Amino acid sequence: MKVRTRVAPSPTGDPHLGTAYVALFNWAFAKKHGGSFILRIEDTDQVRSTKGSEVAILESLKWLGLGWDEGPDCGGDFGPYRQSERKNIYQQYADELVAKGKAFHCFCSAERLNQVRADQRARKETTRYDGHCLSLTESEIKEKKQKGESSVIRLVVPEEGESTFTDRLRGEISIPYQQIDMQVLIKADGMPTYHMAVVVDDHLMNISHVIRGEEWINSVPKHKLLYEYLGWPMPELIHLPLLRNPDQSKLSKRKNPTSIGFYRDSGFLPKALVNYLCLMGWSMPDERDLFDLEEMVSEFDENRISTGGPIFDLNKLSWINGQYIRGLSHDEFVEELIRQIADPEKISQIVPLIRDRIERFDEVISKADYLLGDIASLESSDYEFSDLPEELIHQILFIAVSSLEQLEDWQKDSIFELFSRCAKYLDLDFKKFMKPIFVVISGKKSSLPAFDSMALMGKSVTVSRFRRAMDHIGISGKKRKKLEKEMAAFLNA
Ligand code: GLU
Repeated sequence: MKVRTRVAPSPTGDPHLGTAYVALFNWAFAKKHGGSFILRIEDTDQVRSTKGSEVAILESLKWLGLGWDEGPDCGGDFGPYRQSERKNIYQQYADELVAKGKAFHCFCSAERLNQVRADQRARKETTRYDGHCLSLTESEIKEKKQKGESSVIRLVVPEEGESTFTDRLRGEISIPYQQIDMQVLIKADGMPTYHMAVVVDDHLMNISHVIRGEEWINSVPKHKLLYEYLGWPMPELIHLPLLRNPDQSKLSKRKNPTSIGFYRDSGFLPKALVNYLCLMGWSMPDERDLFDLEEMVSEFDENRISTGGPIFDLNKLSWINGQYIRGLSHDEFVEELIRQIADPEKISQIVPLIRDRIERFDEVISKADYLLGDIASLESSDYEFSDLPEELIHQILFIAVSSLEQLEDWQKDSIFELFSRCAKYLDLDFKKFMKPIFVVISGKKSSLPAFDSMALMGKSVTVSRFRRAMDHIGISGKKRKKLEKEMAAFLNA
């Protein structure tokens, strides 16, 4: 059997370290076994998926050196590689399942489903679909459809027994069917859900090994039923451990920058990041820390992946990055330095911001330092000049970073528009609102034009400066939760 693995990111938001991590192990496994590595874009969530996010995913995986053999950009024999372009394929298998009695049309309204769930919760039962539409006759279904009632297609799940499957790292796992929901396979808009699409695509794309994060283990019983109902063999499963913050919680942007773009724009070398990701749950037989992708592939053995949650530690990654920097030749160092801080394209974007603000060229560095590199750590006293109460500074930083994180269109005008709305929401004069923000982005009381600056710094670096500033001035997790509650109306609008 030819080994074929895939990474299947959803193009929602910034490319995540977790995607790079999963891609890396799929890539290494395919290379080790002389197989193919496929990139599939899982964009069935039409509301949250964006083209910009897809482009960023492709760019960041390329930056890391994790190229693919088949994908939406380069095609391949098993395309299309974007799920939104495969809609008809899924419908055909859903129809087959319905015809076999393994899936059914469900017309339940959202209100009814909410009520069922609320009742189950009150009885302390697992919340799941109660089978209400399972027994509809063909003529009832026809009648409802003719009346234009909206419907979905759901999976039939056995009443009794359990689903048993094997994960290469964890051995045999059993999950009782009582815990498995009658999953929606095709939504009312005709789009498949993840569960339907993943099974159909993995089968049609001849995926031999599904290597993904452990958060998907509980979904396997649904997938296994689909494979069985459709009479297809199931690929082998390898569920990788979840990356964790130093405090063992699941890796989150609140405690660690999670966007790959942050590492690219903050002076990390792709080889160092990939090396560090290799160490997440895996090690070389001789336990050495530093090695490149080729060395990893030659020693790769999936059975040596440990399932204990690996800690993603920025300090350790920085140490590794330092080792890689020391390993650069003089010329490579110069080249990298130019790329990182004196890239002509970046310089030419900075020029319009400084040319009318200097009288001597030697003033440039002190004015634009924060755009070319990192800033010093901030303390509460750095904000004193603003004359704003501490509570208000906390509110400003929190509302700014939370809304910036949601911003897709990273342009100075959109950031300006967003901040105007934030200031209005806080009932604050715009100039006052901006005072602490100058400090956060530039480390100074005033910066070059703030919106141009943020546009230039990019989303991940800007957001990470806000997050770090909040840590340094002591906005605790508890405080954040409180602020989140207070501003929910604005942030969820
Ligand atoms: N689209 C899923 C994700 O973003 C893929 C999960 C899988 O690999 O099956 O995590």
